[in-house]
Amino acid sequence: MAMAGVLERFRIDGKVALVTGGSRGLGRAIAEALATAGARVAVSARQLESARRAADAVAAASGQTALGLAADVTVRSEVEAMVGQILKEFGRLDILVNNAGINIRGPIEQLSEADWDAVVDTNLKGPWLCCRAVAEPMKAQGWGRVINVSSMLGEIALPGRSPYAASKGGLTLLTKTLALEWAPHGINVNALCPGPFATEINTPLLNDPAARAQMEANVPLARWGDPAELGPAAVFLASDASSFMTGATLFIDGGYTAR
Ligand code: NAD
Repeated sequence: MAMAGVLERFRIDGKVALVTGGSRGLGRAIAEALATAGARVAVSARQLESARRAADAVAAASGQTALGLAADVTVRSEVEAMVGQILKEFGRLDILVNNAGINIRGPIEQLSEADWDAVVDTNLKGPWLCCRAVAEPMKAQGWGRVINVSSMLGEIALPGRSPYAASKGGLTLLTKTLALEWAPHGINVNALCPGPFATEINTPLLNDPAARAQMEANVPLARWGDPAELGPAAVFLASDASSFMTGATLFIDGGYTAR
């Protein structure tokens, strides 16, 4: 393959992307990065207002068209309606970023069944429903990219994270399974595994000086990640730059899992 045009392989002009839970944090940063690389982007959130606000900000930052949609990823009818709206609005859907996720921390004895259900439904069932909803349009196009935002905790454990780590470990294996199922259809499915990033999901740790220092002490790069540091990796996995990559797990974790 000629090396000329190597940066052009990262362009996703003409593609349409959906980023779930894209109203803030890592999803918002990923949506901006994909739009800057050329894609039209739909940003979903449970609240229509926050989805629309994020879409407006993405459009302003990138000069691209962006659409805000309301959908709870744990509700099949809402997921299907969301995908239907994107197809109606844009006529295609090329890139799915399963980013929506939650964490409820605590020792297993102190967690409720409802805590388990909420975390596993959001982090594992949600991506499964979204993947199922995009299967037909992506297969019909013969090209697709799915990026599952898993976690370093899909690979290694920390105490107090039983529903979260189990859900993210499941998401990493869902990634591999769908990579095999969809390889014949030109749909690449990969997992993006962040380490500690300073976003709202980590507010309890960021506000607790001891927990904050302990996390930093375990990151070889000795700091929290900035959401903007995830965007380029998402563009890589969304584009032809990663054309020979599927079923893989990409860690962006400041070296945490190298220990
Ligand atoms: P965040 O809390 O800022 O963002 C999570 C987003 O998901 C929010 O917009 C939230 O509204 C949305 N969401 C939650 N439940 C939803 C539902 N049922 N339907 C639709 N949207 C829903 O946190 P973040 O750090 O930006 O997290 C994004 C993803 O990255 C999550 O999957 C998280 O597990 C993963 N992750 C984050 C870190 C980190 O350190 N921040 C590390 C590893 C993985």
